[in-house]
Amino acid sequence: MIQFVIFMGKPGSGKGTQAQYFSKHGWIHLSTGDLFRRHLAEKTPLGKQVQEFVENGNLVPDELTFALVEDFLKSVDQNANIVFDGYPRSKRQAELLDSWSKKTGSKCLGAIEFCLSDESAMERLLNRYYCPVCGYVSNKPGFCVNDGTPLVKRIDDNVEVIQKRVRDYDSYGAELRAYYRNKGIYVAVDAGKEPEEISAFLERIMLKNGLR
Ligand code: AMP
Repeated sequence: MIQFVIFMGKPGSGKGTQAQYFSKHGWIHLSTGDLFRRHLAEKTPLGKQVQEFVENGNLVPDELTFALVEDFLKSVDQNANIVFDGYPRSKRQAELLDSWSKKTGSKCLGAIEFCLSDESAMERLLNRYYCPVCGYVSNKPGFCVNDGTPLVKRIDDNVEVIQKRVRDYDSYGAELRAYYRNKGIYVAVDAGKEPEEISAFLERIMLKNGLR
């Protein structure tokens, strides 16, 4: 049975960094943003279809995004533990994931929100460099610690697009918060803390849920 947790939070809140930490401990890291960027880089038909959305910080339509997620889920070990990073981003996406979960007998054990002020998110994103190969993120230019690839700036990490993405999160984040609170699986994390402290906190939550 696939078991999964959902990491939600505005861009720059550190959910990708934590998901990478868990992927070192055997979890599968499913980042829809990374998957879309890979399609863009490889100029696939899907990449061409989503390019404008991703570059302008707009959400890719729900059904298209879910099709990408479903494809990915079909390809993994059906007993995997998965961290969802950046999916769902709308109530519709959450519902699609729920139906998939029921259909396949998978289980969502928690929706964890990384809470951070808009100012801190902006500061982090303006100083963010990422590895186009593995998705590693750093606040300094240089090379990826995992595979030595030169780190680059993301095309959507500019002031105008960041402001839009952060504003958009206010609305879809509230919707998701209500959705998962209602299911009794919502947990908030202070994303301003040191990454090690956050990992330790998350590990405790996951242990409590029998996930590690
Ligand atoms: P991220 O790397 O999570 O910041 O995502 C980068 C971009 O990919 C977003 O601004 C959207 O254009 C697109 N994207 C990623 N995940 C989703 C999603 N769940 N729904 C719609 N669009 C998404």
